[in-house]
Amino acid sequence: MSTETRTTVVWDYAPAPESVDHIRLKDRYGLFVDGDFRDPSDGRYVPTINPATEEPIAEVAYGGPDDVAAAVESARAALPKWAALKDLERAKYLFRIARLIQERSRELAVVETLDGGKPLRESRDVDIPLAAAHFFHYAGWADKLRYGVNAREVRPLGVVGQIVPWNFPLLMAAWKLAPALACGNVAILKPAETTPLTALLLAEICQEAELPPGVVTILPGNGGTGAALVRQKKINKIAFTGSTAVGRDIQAALAGTDTRLTLELGGKSANIVFEDAALDQAVEGIVNGIFFNQGHVCCAGSRLLIQESVHDEVIAKLWQRMGRLRVGDPMDKNTDVGAINSAEQLERIETLVAAGEDEGAHRRTIACDLPERGYWFAPTMFTDVSPAHRIAIEEIFGPVVSVLTFRTQAEAIEKANNSRYGLAAGIWTDKGSKAFEVASALKAGVVWQNTYNHFDPTAAFGGYKESGFGREGGPAGLRPYLQIVR
Ligand code: NDP
Repeated sequence: MSTETRTTVVWDYAPAPESVDHIRLKDRYGLFVDGDFRDPSDGRYVPTINPATEEPIAEVAYGGPDDVAAAVESARAALPKWAALKDLERAKYLFRIARLIQERSRELAVVETLDGGKPLRESRDVDIPLAAAHFFHYAGWADKLRYGVNAREVRPLGVVGQIVPWNFPLLMAAWKLAPALACGNVAILKPAETTPLTALLLAEICQEAELPPGVVTILPGNGGTGAALVRQKKINKIAFTGSTAVGRDIQAALAGTDTRLTLELGGKSANIVFEDAALDQAVEGIVNGIFFNQGHVCCAGSRLLIQESVHDEVIAKLWQRMGRLRVGDPMDKNTDVGAINSAEQLERIETLVAAGEDEGAHRRTIACDLPERGYWFAPTMFTDVSPAHRIAIEEIFGPVVSVLTFRTQAEAIEKANNSRYGLAAGIWTDKGSKAFEVASALKAGVVWQNTYNHFDPTAAFGGYKESGFGREGGPAGLRPYLQIVR
């Protein structure tokens, strides 16, 4: 086993914990159906856990098959009025939701961090503002739908089922709900089992915005709830973000039906550093690419491709930078890397990291004092990785970067595309022409140049190959929620 552990971490910041006094959480949340919270038909409530402390936060209802069927009926009943509403009126509701998210942003950020384990700095500065921005953006599109689809005549699809993962709970809900509603659809959202709370606060926001009952349904539950939703006959479209395995299951379940489908699945995205790049800037981008949100990011730059001539220099700088990452209490405003979302996810990361060591890659993990309770994994880098290693192929979905090298531009492209995924990529170079050449040769839905993990509601996001199909964001994000009439 070739493991190297850094021992010189200096903790030079006093704790700066965010207050929780201002949040208004109930002890128990039901299913949000027909504009109100209700008990699940089988009375099942399960606690949602803070992954940084393993303490329960609140009890949340689990939607069973009968609840899913009732939700679809309620949504179907709400559809005609909502679809017939003047475009500008629909826009006003979206605008109100966006404003209410902004008003409650501090509370939403704290709850997102408590429920999911991500650093408060990220939920406060990225997740919540971007969620509001998506509602604002699609509020603007609601009365301009034709211009988003080449001036064709369009109509809504109907009832859409939306299943989101745990890595960006509120943001993924906004990515899904905002375009669906702007296009005149009604939506049933299934949040992830481990992070239902901000979606339930969003249900309260829909009430505050006086959104007509049934236009948005929030159905917390487990995988079974999602599977039941997918198999409902009266659903016109499913939009899913999550693992490739579940995406495959959904695609198989919908084969031969007229239910539309978009899938946003996993990734093993290449972050490519050329020798002419500004290396210090690239190192910041590498850190942001893989350690942002503990690496629980579908487009994480988890395969780092470095040009051989600058490999040693980049690794030295990266390792030094990694040593300054602060890992620990996500509620501390200084924390860079928070808790792993669940015990299951921690186990998956540990299994793949052990495989990396067994297969002979060289592991370096930063040393840091991790809290005794909760789920933690210290930032880790693997060098001497071969393209055949599991850690170069499989999505780890944790704070672990696998480093490979290349000599020429052609080799960089070949290696970057040598993946069953194709979600995102990063290119670090000083030459604009090289960036454009490489970007157009990469089979990746999003390519960032001299930056990484940069999200914007106006930009389309989505994948190739096993990363899924369909686009979210910007005008391209309208198309999957509309039928072209003429
Ligand atoms: P899943 O794909 O299982 O979960 C995503 C969502 O789908 C959740 O809401 C989940 O519900 C729901 N779901 C689970 N099973 C079904 C089903 N049969 N039919 C319909 N919906 C279902 O991801 P995991 O949470 O299990 O994570 C596993 C791995 O997936 C991670 O290690 C990571 O590699 C990858 N992943 C990728 C993501 C991405 O954005 N690309 C996001 C999340 C995970 P519930 O949570 O209640 O089980």
